[in-house]
This record gives sequence, structure tokens and C-alpha cells, in this order.
Amino acid sequence: MKVPLLDLKLQYATIKNDVLTAIAEVLDSQVCIGGPKVAELEQKIAAISDCKFAVGVSSGTDALLASLMALNIGLGDEVITTSFTFFATAGSISRTGALPVFVDIDPRTYNLDPSKIEAAITGRTKAIIPVHLYGQMCDMDPIMEVAAKHNLHVIEDAAQAISATYKGRKAGSIGTVGCFSFFPSKNLGGAGDGGMIVTNDPALHERLVAMRSHGSQRKYYHKDVGGNFRLDPLQAAILLVKLPHLGDWSEARRRNAAYYNQAFASSGVQTPWINPDCVSIFNQYTIRVSHRDLLVQALKQEGIGAEIYYPLPMHEQECFAGKCRVAGSLRESETASHKVLSLPVYPELTQDQLDCVADYVLRFAASPERPSSSEVLQ
Ligand SMILES: *Cc1c(COP(=O)(O)O)cnc(C)c1O
Repeated sequence: MKVPLLDLKLQYATIKNDVLTAIAEVLDSQVCIGGPKVAELEQKIAAISDCKFAVGVSSGTDALLASLMALNIGLGDEVITTSFTFFATAGSISRTGALPVFVDIDPRTYNLDPSKIEAAITGRTKAIIPVHLYGQMCDMDPIMEVAAKHNLHVIEDAAQAISATYKGRKAGSIGTVGCFSFFPSKNLGGAGDGGMIVTNDPALHERLVAMRSHGSQRKYYHKDVGGNFRLDPLQAAILLVKLPHLGDWSEARRRNAAYYNQAFASSGVQTPWINPDCVSIFNQYTIRVSHRDLLVQALKQEGIGAEIYYPLPMHEQECFAGKCRVAGSLRESETASHKVLSLPVYPELTQDQLDCVADYVLRFAASPERPSSSEVLQ
């Protein structure tokens, strides 16, 4: 049985008519930049995130970049983050001229280990970017505590965690700003790139709005150098159709995750650990196994989608050689990059597909050197 890692066509089939109507509405209006769809989405994302303001932007990457720029972070500054993340987190820091400083992760959650942050702070440190990896929020209380003590901004990279909670508080609402991505594979994905920044700070909101339009508040007069970081109204219209389903879709992912958890109990497969303070949206269901690379290869040959998020930590990336700082040992980040594997967890998976994935992984875990189908290791 074929089980892709993600099947967006199934989801699209359930909302196709509404999406086509929404797109037609934008095209008929010929409001092609900004406009009511972007404003409505901003208002709704702010509301579900328990934030006062939201600013639609062109991608999750640009949400991070515009946030750093609006907070005046640049050359000579340092920003503390995790090495075990998608490239955009560290890449955005680097693009402002600031130095990414990497701190190790908690091996249970794969998120920034709050106890390691303080030792990484210097006189140049301006901000911390906690990344809510795989849909589960970081342990935010100790992160906010150390940030307050040292007067640092906190930029939540919530690209994988829209509507996830920590102690009942929404992703993006705890830090100075929160950044979301609408990349198609995220829980709330557009038909292309898109992103959003949320904040409760009115002055920062104003700066972010300027930042996404070349730093100008009054047309053709520029107080700061910004960029073209605007959210496309066609994407906003599509996202408005999808937003009411986000809760159900995330719930279905949690159900699928719970099913795998049960199936893998008392096997050699390490299932995701969810902090009791958190509700995860399971953007990924990520296991830890020995012989990980053999398993990936075997699953792919079986027609089962599986992906490694992420195979090379940021501090080992060629582009950051001599252009980042490693604060303490990053042993857990390195180990995770060799052991983790994400399995299909998307909402539309059928019971047969879930069984198929679980059975195969279990058989492999029982005898990794001698997988059950003979062609597997060719
Ligand atoms: C997806 C993602 C981003 C970037 O989002 P884009 O919309 O693809 O630019 C940033 N950080 C993390 C952790 C992500 O998963």
C-alpha cells in the first residue's frame, strides 16, 4: 500500500468549490495587493492566537526576517537559537548581519533547552528565537524568565505550531512577536508561500507594517530600509477558506499520533514525548530509531513516505562555517539529526494506511538487519 508523507489533493477535494469561489472574488475585485482578504485573515489569525495585532507577510522566512529588522537587530548583534531547526531560523538571523548563536536542545522535545541559554548570553545578545518544532511549543516560562532578566526580545518561530498551546497560552502570544508560515505542508498551508507575524505591542505592529512595504509609513518616504514582504491576497483568500478547518485537522493529526503511540508502545521505537504543559498540533510525527537510515530507505522502497527533519544541524552547515557561534556542547542536536524520522500523520490518512505504516515500522524495529521483504535492502 502506498502511503505518501502528505497528500494535499485529498484536503483540496473537500474545499475545492469554496476555494475557487474565494479566488474568483479576489480576481473580480482586482484588489491584487493588500485589501480586505489580507485584513480579514490578519484579524482572524490575531484572534486565534490571542494577540492584538497580526501582519500578513510573504512567507514564514520573511516573518522572521521582518521581525528581526523591526527590532533593529543587525551587524554586531547576537541572536540565540537552536541548531536543530529548519534553515530559515538561522538564515534570517544571518541575513540581518547578526551572528546566530546555537544552544543545545532538550532530547525529549527536540526544542531549545532553556537551562543552556543563560551561559550563551553576552553583551551583544539581543534576542532569543525559540522554535516550536514539529508542532509542540518550547518550555516558554524559563525562556521568558532569562529573556526578561537580560532584557532580550523573544521571537517565537511558530512556523510549525499555529494554534498549539503551552499552559493554555497560544503559540506566538508569549514572546515579543510570533512568526507563522503558510507553506503548503504546514497545518494551515496556502497554495504557495505566505506567512504572518503576531504581536501585542502597538508600536512594534506599526514598525512591522512599515517593514513589509520597504520601511515606508508615508508612501515614498522611508524611515527605515524594509522590503517587499507582503502577503498575496489570493493566498489570504484561500487561507480564509481553510482556517475554519484548522482545529479539526489538527485534532485528526493528534488522533493519528495517538494511534502510532499505542502501536509502538513496548517496541524499540521511541515515540514523541509531549510535555504535559503542551498541546501539540503534530505538524510532524517524529520517532527515534536505531538504524534510522536503513529504515528510511526501506520505507521509501515500500512506497511509504518518510522524511528526516533535519539531517544536518545548522552549526554544521557549510554556509555558517566561521559565521555562527556554538555555545557549549550541541551533542543532543547532533544525535537527533542522526536518529529522528518523521512518518505520515496528515489528517486524511485512513486506518489501513496507519496500520500499514505502523506494521512496517514494527517489523523493522523487531529485526532491522533482516527486514521482512527480501528486496528491501537492495
Ligand atoms: C517552514 C518553516 C519556516 C519558514 O517558513 P516559509 O514559509 O517556508 O518561509 C521557518 N521556520 C520553521 C521552523 C519552519 O518549519
